[in-house]
Amino acid sequence: MSEQTGNLTFGIIKPDAVCGGKTGAIIQRVTDGGFKVRGMKLIHMTLQEAEGFYAVHRERPFFPELTTFMSSGPCVVLTLEKDGAVKAWRDLMGATDPAKADEGTIRKEFGGSLGENAVHGSDSEENAAIEISYFFSRLEIV
Ligand code: ATP
Ligand code: MG
Repeated sequence: MSEQTGNLTFGIIKPDAVCGGKTGAIIQRVTDGGFKVRGMKLIHMTLQEAEGFYAVHRERPFFPELTTFMSSGPCVVLTLEKDGAVKAWRDLMGATDPAKADEGTIRKEFGGSLGENAVHGSDSEENAAIEISYFFSRLEIV
């Protein structure tokens, strides 16, 4: 995997979207957007696992809300490949607040609120590599 890390990013279909039956539609948007799915699985994080994943936000006021939400139900975790994958996936997701997201983005279409905004995407190649390895073993990346 390491030789292609620059073309990989990490994504999550969050519990609001999975519970709302939007997984299939979002995967369709991923593939229509030119991404190759290299890893995909359904997980249900414990609170501790969500806290570990979002440790960078530990001091933020919304941290308890965020980690409680992310451990409230199943998520689909994704390893995605495309040239310039990190930026391309964030562009397809749209702004953090769905109300401010551009037309045609996943958060505009599927996000309900700032806290429950349907998807996650890594914000740098370095964090993409860390986040992929948080959820996927080498054998789970094809
Ligand atoms: P993500 O990391 O989920 O892809 P992001 O990079 O666009 O989203 P971050 O600043 O990293 O945004 O925030 C992480 C997540 O925390 C957001 O996706 C959102 O669900 C939640 N969040 C951010 N700001 C707030 C807030 N003010 N109130 C509640 N939840 C928030
Ligand atoms: Mg972020």
